Amino acid sequence: MSNNYRIAIYLRLSRDDGNEESQSIQSQREMLNDYVQRQGWQVFEEYSDDGYSGTNFNRPDFQRMLNDIESGKINMVITKDLSRLGRNYIQVGYYTEEYFPEKGVRYIAVNDGYDSIDEDGNDFVPLRNFMNEWYAKDTSKKIRSILNQKAKNGEPRKTSVPIYGYAFNDKNERIPDSETASVVRLIYTKFIETGSVKKVAIFLTENKYPTPAYHNAIKYKYDRKKILALPEDKLYSWNVSTVREILKKDEYLGVYRTAQTKSINFKNKRRFDNKDCYVFENRYEPLVDKDTWYLAQSLLKTSKGSSIGVDDNIFKGLVYCMDCEKSMRVRREKNYSGEYVYSFSCHHKDCLGSNYILMNVLEKVVARELLMLKEIILSQRDRFIDFAFMYEPDSKRYTLDLNKELSVLEAREKEVDEFMDNLIIQNTKGLIPQSTLKNLLDKHRKEKNAIDKEILTIKQRIKDEENKPTSKQKVEELLNILEAATEDNILKAGVVQKLIRRIYVKSTKVHPKSREREIDITIVYSTYDEIIKGFITNE
Ligand SMILES: [Zn+2]
Repeated sequence: MSNNYRIAIYLRLSRDDGNEESQSIQSQREMLNDYVQRQGWQVFEEYSDDGYSGTNFNRPDFQRMLNDIESGKINMVITKDLSRLGRNYIQVGYYTEEYFPEKGVRYIAVNDGYDSIDEDGNDFVPLRNFMNEWYAKDTSKKIRSILNQKAKNGEPRKTSVPIYGYAFNDKNERIPDSETASVVRLIYTKFIETGSVKKVAIFLTENKYPTPAYHNAIKYKYDRKKILALPEDKLYSWNVSTVREILKKDEYLGVYRTAQTKSINFKNKRRFDNKDCYVFENRYEPLVDKDTWYLAQSLLKTSKGSSIGVDDNIFKGLVYCMDCEKSMRVRREKNYSGEYVYSFSCHHKDCLGSNYILMNVLEKVVARELLMLKEIILSQRDRFIDFAFMYEPDSKRYTLDLNKELSVLEAREKEVDEFMDNLIIQNTKGLIPQSTLKNLLDKHRKEKNAIDKEILTIKQRIKDEENKPTSKQKVEELLNILEAATEDNILKAGVVQKLIRRIYVKSTKVHPKSREREIDITIVYSTYDEIIKGFITNE
């Protein structure tokens, strides 16, 4: 029986299908040929309308196919889905319901699982349901691809409530909110001062800062009824998790995320994971500078589950095990005379070491180390400044190079545009055949896309470079901290946390039975770690 089938595969693509690769003529062709082969059939003829809308049937190859059906050449039609046949529900219905059956043509829409043979008999209702779903599916797919394009480009999207600290301008872009931006900054400052999320929450509550929920209820009428029904003190009562959320948001660095919409399907709208996001850095004015934000992150990591703040532990978030490179946990115990003793130890399951250090020992080592650093650097101030500048790639020159690269790319893009315009003109004059035009346009569109991408990357790099503090600022800041440091204040949390990024600790018992330990400590400095070390070893 299969030998009696003279199969037409029908392909169609139009601009309203979006630019999804899966819809391309080539992929329709491959898919249908594969399908036909797997049925043990053969394709008799291919019909293909590239660039024709599905809303009507005035398409050259569709008409040619109808002619071939009329003359009995074709008795089976296969398309990828119903919408390849057409997008007009009633007209498509005419072909599937009347015309094909009347001509004895079997029709299959592969992706929709539609086969006219299965539909024989009382087929109208299921088909109709099917069509409805197909319609909904197709529309949502279309909307999805538009949304996805917007997300990919990082287009601003208005949400019912902006991220706390920001407001929307009339273009739906994030701008600092006049009332709450300063509260966000305050939260970061207070947290770095105290190292305790809880203390920040207490501070905000005591000083009667309106909670984000209250702010949103007033300004955006968000959950208004529910929030305003709360007792008054609740409107100013900050909890730890709210503060923690704010401290974790990299949106305050100007980062913008747009969701990829691929995970939405039209029946089931679920929220997205992080990996479904497009991330744009420096998209908006940051509320917090990078150093502060990263410092907060490292403090957050250790403040979880530990109530010991920077007041009691100036090394909060800084101490790492030299063996497993994970953070060491701080512990507080009372000694025999009832005083608190703090220590760091590594508790990680897979760690082979047994590294341990008393906090007061670490304090002595670090103080000695920092004072020595101060001595070395300040005694040769000018040499250090020269050394630092020499070491750092000249940021300005780098930016200049980037700008040069950018103008070359922009010029090339202009060329490509002009070339394509010219092609089209020549084609209308009949100087280039349609197929050549199409090939050349495809090729140059690809190049244009590649150039666009590169331009975006370079623009981003230039922006990054502009946002970096200059070497001069960084060196000056370092020198200022060192100058202000004395034997008495060098162990203040502010100094230690600003100067040091990490401290790696290794301790080995001198004898298995002895309590004496040999201690090895490596300090990683926050700014200029390499330069500082290079300078010291150059001594
Ligand atoms: Zn360890």
